[in-house]
Amino acid sequence: MRRGIVLGVLLAAGALAVVKAQPPDPNAPKVVEVDKVKDNLFVLKGGGGNTAVFVTANGVTVVDAKNPGWGKPILDKIKTLSDKPVTMLINTHTHGDHVSGNVEFPATVDVVVQENTKANMEKMDIFKQNNNRGMAKRTFKDKMTLGKGADQIDLYYFGPGHTNGDAIVVFPALRTAHLGDLFAGKGLPLVDAANGGSVLQYPDTVMKVYNGVKNVDTVINGHSNTTMTWPDVKEFADFNRDFLTWAQGELKAGKTPEQAAPEWKVPDKYKGYSSQVAALFGGLPGRIQRLADEMKK
Ligand SMILES: [Zn+2]
Repeated sequence: MRRGIVLGVLLAAGALAVVKAQPPDPNAPKVVEVDKVKDNLFVLKGGGGNTAVFVTANGVTVVDAKNPGWGKPILDKIKTLSDKPVTMLINTHTHGDHVSGNVEFPATVDVVVQENTKANMEKMDIFKQNNNRGMAKRTFKDKMTLGKGADQIDLYYFGPGHTNGDAIVVFPALRTAHLGDLFAGKGLPLVDAANGGSVLQYPDTVMKVYNGVKNVDTVINGHSNTTMTWPDVKEFADFNRDFLTWAQGELKAGKTPEQAAPEWKVPDKYKGYSSQVAALFGGLPGRIQRLADEMKK
């Protein structure tokens, strides 16, 4: 009996080791975690960018739809939060970890994005492969207001940053805003040059958000695990300004992006900022190269 238990434990440990060594299983359960931000506003985490769920008098508005295959898990989770229908979907920007789940939403859902983001989405295979299901139906250029009173949503665009179509989604009655990947978290942001992102304008764009949007206390970030505050937006603008000043100095000193990159260090005053730089879009040398290209224009 005892030998049987020992053998069982050994087998279980062996099985775990095997599971750990395998790549992620695409058929693994898609677990959506819920954070309640306000009585009628939730953040759904997992499977890509943070999804906001705003429950209004007549329906549910969703902000961002995660990676491919995560649209249905989002809709299933919303059913546990409200019995109202999903009527509107807003995408903060074009990236696959924010828009791919769109194609699983009902065709009746209104899809609203910044106009440059619609043009970027039209280049994506996932919409071509799904007969344009989930494609943007309405766009705005600089500002758009949807609904009123407790249900009001204000959409803003302040200029290029992460892409050329980063929407700021504000819920004025709740003093809360979703900043998407313009402010994904505390660290150097990704800049997608192919979709019009700008290292040169990034600090100005974030500062325009900080100065242009009023009466917000709570920030939902593109990928952070917890919400942030409005002063965090100012600090993030300063952080990007300091990075820009540093990178411009390196280029003016005649360094190549590859020579400059290893010298970057997060200034000590930015507490809680990650020193890790995501490898996407050429990593740190890619960002400095993007800046060099922009400075030549
Ligand atoms: Zn993104």
